[in-house]
Amino acid sequence: MKSIVCLSILLIAIAIIPSKSGAWGFFAHKRINRLAVYSLPPGMLVLFKPGLEYVTEHACDPDKRRYMIPAEGPRHYIDIDLYGTHPYPELPRNYRDALAKFGRDSLQSRGILPWHFEWMLARLTKAFDTTDTRYILKIATELGHYVADAHVPLHACSNHNGQFSQQEGIHGLWESKIPELVADADFNYWVGKARYIDDPGSFIWKVILESAAAADTVLRLEKQLSDSLPLQQKYSFTLRSNQLVYQYSEMYTRAYQELLGDMVQRRMRNAIFAVASCWYTAWINAGQPVLDKHFSPTATSAEETEIQKLNQHWRKGKIFGRNHE
Ligand SMILES: [Zn+2]
Repeated sequence: MKSIVCLSILLIAIAIIPSKSGAWGFFAHKRINRLAVYSLPPGMLVLFKPGLEYVTEHACDPDKRRYMIPAEGPRHYIDIDLYGTHPYPELPRNYRDALAKFGRDSLQSRGILPWHFEWMLARLTKAFDTTDTRYILKIATELGHYVADAHVPLHACSNHNGQFSQQEGIHGLWESKIPELVADADFNYWVGKARYIDDPGSFIWKVILESAAAADTVLRLEKQLSDSLPLQQKYSFTLRSNQLVYQYSEMYTRAYQELLGDMVQRRMRNAIFAVASCWYTAWINAGQPVLDKHFSPTATSAEETEIQKLNQHWRKGKIFGRNHE
């Protein structure tokens, strides 16, 4: 009996060991950036089509950077529920006002995603003024990552991994396991043409509020499912990156996806459309510059060094701040 209890504890412990993924999981981030390219107008495709592999492959660089730079973590989320109740009128949408009211430490610890989005959008608009095609694609790729993060309900909630409700692991279940299992087969990825965003500030806060409003459902439905099934149906051994890991079973993941209805698909589609529209908006605001079609997929030696450093820190697995899975 004792050994069965010990084994159960061990297995649960294995199940909740953080895996080195990130918001939306690497799979979904790559899909979102890649699919956004197909919604761009011809004037942008000139550069983004040859850059397709770049925006895909580097979609997760900001998540890897969390292992290298302490300041990176808060850029990926906002625990908006810590600011009162929906729609959180206590929280100024303007960064200066929020800073004056809550102070830097508070803002940083609760996450700065919506403000970081606006800074990145401004940076991309400026980047379009340059002729440095690798720089343009780098900023666009990273902006795409943060826009996608804003669409994840648990990125707008302090109980971001179910740690306050005995649901540890739910973050990865929603944003990694479900998309990996069903997205390519079942989701409709075509979202139409990118649209100009008149007011990016209002836009990002609307996305965050939608995410925050969905977080309760994300947590409640998983709790309901978990309570209705025995542990051995919830978890199973799966081969992942050549490693045998004990994690949510396929049956459990599908059952959760079923309960969520079209939520994951809807947020992923909205993210694809939003990423394309943000890239397009920055290009329009830069005056629709003629983009250089000459993009070399080969990294410069300085970039190569940076990429290697990023990957080294990420593989070591020592993250600054929170991890989700
Ligand atoms: Zn992220």
